[in-house]
Amino acid sequence: MKKEKLFIFLVFTLTTIAPLVFAKDVVHVVASTPDLAALAQAVGGDLVKVESLIKGTQDPHNIEVLPSYMVKLRNADVFLIIGMDLDQWAFPLRDGSRNARLLTVDCSKTINRLHVPTSKIDASYGDIHIYGNPHYWLDPQNGRIILETILDALAQVSPENAPVFQQNVRAYSQKLEEKMKEWQAAMAPYREHRIIFYHDSWPYFQQRFGLEIVDFIEPKPGIVPSPSHTARLLEEVGQQQIKVIAMEPFYDKRVPDLISRQTGAHVVVVAPSVGSVKGVDDYIQLFDYNVKSL
Ligand SMILES: [Zn+2]
Repeated sequence: MKKEKLFIFLVFTLTTIAPLVFAKDVVHVVASTPDLAALAQAVGGDLVKVESLIKGTQDPHNIEVLPSYMVKLRNADVFLIIGMDLDQWAFPLRDGSRNARLLTVDCSKTINRLHVPTSKIDASYGDIHIYGNPHYWLDPQNGRIILETILDALAQVSPENAPVFQQNVRAYSQKLEEKMKEWQAAMAPYREHRIIFYHDSWPYFQQRFGLEIVDFIEPKPGIVPSPSHTARLLEEVGQQQIKVIAMEPFYDKRVPDLISRQTGAHVVVVAPSVGSVKGVDDYIQLFDYNVKSL
């Protein structure tokens, strides 16, 4: 009887007190997108608790922020953002969270940016990204740069665990390098393939893996296709014998489907983010899926 009581006491003590003791060492990371969250998880392993504000199935350009996002930030140590204006909805959340110790990290800061406008931009350019194209995580080589940025942030917040974070980054970066050879070999036959994308999200992917991006379903970023633009695309697909129209799962399929019906081109759903399609649950699977689909 006595033994039993002691056992119950021990179980109670370990299950209630132990998490409190260990929780102190865990760095709480909030990322604006699931791609940054996946990379933060790779850096931090079980020394971090990582949450993404949005899901991969959401269009990161158009986010209706929820009060729960601010609550997540209130208790976070590190906030990872894409930057370059893609997730500008994150700034009011950060300010509203009133978390003075929150370290906000713009993961674009060390990225070699593509499509940075050289002339003055006005509304006639559509919903253009004024700091350049922000879809940089779609090149795995940039993924390796993001890992280093996250490493710096985590080491700053939790210096005692820096050696573990460094080791995790080395291991994941090496894995990405190995996979890169496999992905580039798989994409090699398609380097010159002409393709139409829905939105201009793929210049970093294209730079790494090839493909000839001929046009976009959107006449300008963020603008829905007009009948005259659709007619022009139909002509272009026929004339240039374009076989593939690739689109993110959250865009309207009607225009791609219409072009497909009239020309025989295939509509391919690509994964712009971790969690955007079934089976893409981490950063490596993101490229496995896209390389296979395109
Ligand atoms: Zn965009």
